[in-house]
Amino acid sequence: MTIINEALTAKVEAVKQVLAEIETDYNLATLASSYGAEDMVLMDLISKFSPQIEIFTLDTGRLPKETYDVMQEAKLHYNREVKVYFPNADDVEDYVTTQGPNAFYDSVELRKQCCGIRKVKPLKRALAGKKAWLTGMRRSQAVTRSELPVSEWDEGFGLQKFSPLTDWSNGDVWAYIKAFDVPYNKLHDQGVASIGCAPCTRAITAGEDIRAGRWWWENPESKECGLHVKASTLDK
Ligand code: SF4
Repeated sequence: MTIINEALTAKVEAVKQVLAEIETDYNLATLASSYGAEDMVLMDLISKFSPQIEIFTLDTGRLPKETYDVMQEAKLHYNREVKVYFPNADDVEDYVTTQGPNAFYDSVELRKQCCGIRKVKPLKRALAGKKAWLTGMRRSQAVTRSELPVSEWDEGFGLQKFSPLTDWSNGDVWAYIKAFDVPYNKLHDQGVASIGCAPCTRAITAGEDIRAGRWWWENPESKECGLHVKASTLDK
């Protein structure tokens, strides 16, 4: 029998309750999964208890090999559909032709432009027609997420947004993954806490913020990719 402590059991039950409400009240709802540790916890709970909630991922074309490995592993493990969205080929061709393949290192503006093409525009397609979306964001991940609520109206994309793991700690996430044999991205074993595109992700060292390895050359305040910001600052 799988053992998790009482506090984590209560958190799991709370998430199951939120998922059940979303499944009933927000048809259709969809989880945005980057196959990071938190998203795998949600994929596990959704697949087991609220399978009507859809799951999708954004394949930016610059993902690490280990992310494709866990995508494949999860497909076999859960035997359920995860819809994949790619960026518009013309947009990527224009960007790489005019700016170069690694222009995101040159300025915040060029980095946001790349995220806009490879992530935000495909996300808009993924969320079209949905009533709610779910993310694996947690409050303790970054200064930009310190006041994150479980449920909020997403002005930028025009639908309800849920972050059911908002009060989970990093330890909670890993205790759940280990207890329930959840597939996970093996980059986490190499010290990578938050996993995005390969050229914009690095391992962190002890004491660093969990998202310190994402766009590490920028200030912490600018480090969101355009998926989780208000409409006023959204990369269109
Ligand atoms: S994370 Fe990096 S490579 Fe990926 S879309 Fe953003 S800037 Fe481009």
